[in-house]
Formats: sequence, structure tokens, C-alpha cells
Amino acid sequence: MSSAFADIDVSLLKKYDRPGPRYTSYPTAPLFTPLFTPDDYRGEIAATNGPNASPELSLYFHFPFCDTLCYFCGCTMVVTRDRRRIEEYNAYLQKEMALVAPLIAPHRRVTQIHWGGGTPTHLSPDQIVSIARVIRSSFSVSPDAEASVEVDPRELDRRHMEALREAGFNRMSMGIQDFDAHVQAAVNRIQPEEVSHQVYTWARELGFASINVDLMYGLPFQTLASFEKTIRSIIAYAPDRIAVFNYAHVPWLKPHMKLIRPDELPSPGLKLDMLKMTIETLTASGYEYIGMDHFAKPGDELARARAERTLYRNFQGYSTRAGADLYGFGMSAISHFQNVYAQNTKNIPEYYKALDAGRLATHVGYRMTDDDHLRKFVIMRLMCDLELDFDVVEKKFGVSFRDRFASALEMLKPLAADGLVEMPGRSIRIVGPGRLLLRNIAMCFDAYLERLTREKPIFSRTV
Ligand code: SF4
Repeated sequence: MSSAFADIDVSLLKKYDRPGPRYTSYPTAPLFTPLFTPDDYRGEIAATNGPNASPELSLYFHFPFCDTLCYFCGCTMVVTRDRRRIEEYNAYLQKEMALVAPLIAPHRRVTQIHWGGGTPTHLSPDQIVSIARVIRSSFSVSPDAEASVEVDPRELDRRHMEALREAGFNRMSMGIQDFDAHVQAAVNRIQPEEVSHQVYTWARELGFASINVDLMYGLPFQTLASFEKTIRSIIAYAPDRIAVFNYAHVPWLKPHMKLIRPDELPSPGLKLDMLKMTIETLTASGYEYIGMDHFAKPGDELARARAERTLYRNFQGYSTRAGADLYGFGMSAISHFQNVYAQNTKNIPEYYKALDAGRLATHVGYRMTDDDHLRKFVIMRLMCDLELDFDVVEKKFGVSFRDRFASALEMLKPLAADGLVEMPGRSIRIVGPGRLLLRNIAMCFDAYLERLTREKPIFSRTV
């Protein structure tokens, strides 16, 4: 695996550094529209829950509250230390489940649960156990469901971790970002290494099956040496997965990012050097590059899913459960099944108001066309399998690949000339540095990108 990244050409990466979507969905979220109403969403749930509905369900719960604001944060969150607000929010989650669960066919089983945020572990241990109990009594959760939770090590004691296990969680993702004290101070996230290490040790002792660690490069004051030190410390922990995100400085979308001074950020050139070092160090230490920002040990289910071509992308990034219908709960949560995307309001009072009125809190949504399904399949398989066989697409969708994607194939030609893709006969293979530029390759197949980006910047940069 490491040979694929030997001698990464940083200047080539620089050439392709431009704004673009991360393709956790296709079409992308800016296409979602308020013309899609709560009644539309309710109707779609009911219509897709006949006896022939796919049996698997995936549930996402959004817990928005955080103890403090990390200046780099790109999530939808609210800072509070008022525990009553969490209690109140959980009561509304319960109301939302009470509206949705009766619409779901009883034979359908939950095979995947994810708690994200915000900070799910800002809940007290009792609150964790109690809301998990409501989830399990509202839906039929499979005993071997993959249940994962995002954990902030700064706020934890061992009781939180025990509560998570009691609540059925078997996978967790720890936010760390960087161990360097100077960097931590600049982004308002003070997290001594001992704290992270303690939580990691508890997670292992308590038998979490898979542990992911989130790191971030491109933060203020990071140097190549300081970030390499963080990477090497994490490798010594031996987590099953490591995600290394590129800090996207988008203050026009997230005004709190103005708290980060641009002159303290590493230069684009240094960021690329950090990316190169990260990839080389992780792959040389036995981690496999999954795609985008994700690395996994060869035995981890993410790496296995990639080898078996069952990898999938959803709003949490890469996932192993393709085919499950996703229902999101909580403010800002996104649902996706069959032809539909539906997103709840990001405004907590509006979320409460809708549920008090007995309505779902859908704020925007989207109905996919046949062309969207085709393009979603192409983008998904390229980003997960790193190759695409035209025959597979033609058989599945009854189209001529070359006719339908003539302009995309034209757009790929310069990328092929730069050695990012190969197009032997009737297939596309992503090779060499192309594996780090998956977004750029996917962008060639996006029918809406030009229209979406014509007027204002809405996406982060691709490198
Ligand atoms: S803890 Fe996570 S969600 Fe909360 S502010 Fe920090 S990065 Fe954002």
C-alpha cells in the first residue's frame, strides 16, 4: 500500500487544490430545498415502509451541545454548560422518535446507530443510558448492530465510558486533533495527552471493538515536526482507524473561525508537506489508506469492506453498511433513503416548536432524479473502490456510459495526463496521487457543481 504513495508530488497536489464538495451525499446539501416539507418527509417514510422495504435501518442522533467552542469546529453545535438544556433536548428527541417510529415497518431492524454532535459525551452517564433506552424501546435494534459514538476525552470519567457500553456502543471515535500545547491553546481546545490516553485505555479495557482517532492538520502554529510528533504518538496507541482531516478555514460559513488568525495558519505548501508526511508515516506503520482522510489497520472492518468492495459513503464519511435506510434525529440531522434527502432545522427553538405542534422538524430536503441516482452510484464507487467498470454501470442503469458521461470523460483527460487516473478500455482506475484527489475526480461527474459554485464560495478546498 505504501508504494502507491512513494514520492508524492506536492506541486501536483497544489495544482488541483480548489473548492469542492466532500461527497458525503450526491446531490450535495446545498441543493436541498425548503420546497420539500415536513409532510413530504412523513409521506416518504410511510411510502417506503411497505412489506418490500429493505430490512436494514441506520439511525443517526445529533447531540449539539458542547462544553466549550473549538475555534476550528465545522460542526453544528451549541455551547452550554446548562445540564437542563440537555435534558430538555433529549425529551424532544424522544418526541421525534415517537412521531417517526410508528411509520416504520416493524420487520425492519436497526443495524447501525451513530451518535454525533456536538458532543454526545456532554450528556451525563445517566442521560446516556436513559436516551439509549428510549431508542432501543422505540426501534427493533439488532443484537449485533454497529453502534458508534463520538467522544470528547476532555469531559469524561470512567462512568461515561461504562454508560456508553451499557447503552450498547461497541465503536467509538475520539477527537484529539493535535497534542501540541501551543496549537491546542490557539484553537481553544486544551486536551493534555494523558487525558486522551486515559480515555483510550478505558475504551480498550471496556472492550470497544473499534476505536477511531480524529486528527487535524492545517491548524495554527503546527509545524511539520510538531504534527509528526502527534502522528507518531497516536501510532503508538494503535487505534483501529485514524482520520486525519484537513482544517478548512471557511469563516464565511462558520463566523467563529474568525477567532483563528490567518497569519498563524500554516502555508498551503506546509499543509501539503504535512499531508505527505502523514500518509507516508501511517502507511509505513501498517495503516491502509481507505480514501479521503481515512486510514485503517488491515484487519479493521473498514479496510475489509474496501477490499470486498462493500464500502459506502454517508454523512459520517466512509461506512461499512451499504443499503440501510438512514433516519436522522435531532436538530440539523439528515435522513436519506430511496429517493429522498431530508434535513431537520438547525435552529433549536424551531426544532422544538415543530415537535410541540406534532410536526416533523424537516427544514429542507430533496427528491432524487434518475440521473442523480446514476451519478451518485458513479461517484460513490469511484470514491470507495477507486475504480469503475463501465459495464457495471450500463447493466445497472441501462445507459451508454460513454454517451451519458461524454463531458465527464473529456474533463478527466487532463487528470489522466497528470497520472491521477487511467482509463484503459471501458473502465476508470484512480492511481497514484489521484487517490489523494478523489474529490477532484468525483467533481467531473457532478451535474450541479458549476451552477452551485458560480455565485459564491460554498465548499472547502480539496487538498
Ligand atoms: S467539541 Fe467537537 S463539536 Fe464541540 S466545538 Fe469542539 S470540535 Fe466542535
